[in-house]
Amino acid sequence: FFVPPSSLDNEIVPLPDDIAHHIRTVLRLAPGDEIILLDGQGRRCRCRLETLDKRSASARILESCQEEETAFPIQLLQALPKGDKMELVLQKGTELGITAFSPVTTSRSLPPLAGEREEKRLARWERIIREAARQSRRPVLPRLDAPIPLVEALIACDAELRLMLWEEESLAMAGVLSGVAPRSAAILVGPEGGFSQQEAEAARAAGFNPVQIGPRILRCETAGFAVASVLQYLFGD
Ligand code: SAM
Repeated sequence: FFVPPSSLDNEIVPLPDDIAHHIRTVLRLAPGDEIILLDGQGRRCRCRLETLDKRSASARILESCQEEETAFPIQLLQALPKGDKMELVLQKGTELGITAFSPVTTSRSLPPLAGEREEKRLARWERIIREAARQSRRPVLPRLDAPIPLVEALIACDAELRLMLWEEESLAMAGVLSGVAPRSAAILVGPEGGFSQQEAEAARAAGFNPVQIGPRILRCETAGFAVASVLQYLFGD
């Protein structure tokens, strides 16, 4: 379970209510049973449940170590898709080893939400990432950025290999990947309606290689997964 980093500073760790509830009612563990607590930044603690009742729950740290994150960082710049598709992107992307999610707005994507609604959505997205990281046993939580316009995200990107998935490009991704050994990558995926010509030019100017990934048009929530899998196979662990 992921807990706030500072709660692992003491030998006895108070467990947040949602975790205590899960341990008690879903896993049906009891005091004396062991659990693993993670701080989301690589710290992993083997713990023994000390107390577990309706009012409070705590665990004692038995052993602690620092784990490394995946060897190959991948940033996913995803144009904000319709409905709740972004949730699927975050869940599956976390399983596939994406290390940073950067939702972007484009001329054909949804706009960001205003104020408190965006904060609530980000909190929900954080929970989805945490849950996916827990299930796929990732010691370090992927970063989640607040949605920003595409041009700003392009400027901020410092990945070594930058791929823009653009179905209108004739160059296949395989052509860009052969003979290279990058230490990090960024994948830029468009919205349902695709990128405009100007956006493709802006991405190219920011060092992104426009590539097509085959004759079939994938949905915007699928395209990033396909490419992340290939990159993990070629350069990841
Ligand atoms: N605008 C397109 C259309 O309506 O025909 C489709 C856009 S596609 C559903 C959404 C995004 O997935 C694209 O902007 C692109 O980033 C990516 N994508 C899907 N299939 C692709 C392919 N075969 N090659 C490159 N990118 C692809």
